[in-house]
Amino acid sequence: MASLRVLVRVRLDWSDPQHYEHGRPLSCRVCDTPTTMRDAQRRACHQSCAEVEIARELGAGEARIADEREVAR
Ligand SMILES: [Zn+2]
Repeated sequence: MASLRVLVRVRLDWSDPQHYEHGRPLSCRVCDTPTTMRDAQRRACHQSCAEVEIARELGAGEARIADEREVAR
């Protein structure tokens, strides 16, 4: 039986100002690097980190997750 590879790409729309807190960088809850970005619960989190997190959840198990952060920046 052939193996199945699933590619999950998640792109969040964080254009709303609620996702940005000017001048107050805090440690990202995922990667610990300071960020002024905030998730929907107002916790410090990079958009790319949140996207990878969601992609991992969606593709839990056999999925192969593409981390495109290097490409996007
Ligand atoms: Zn991060």
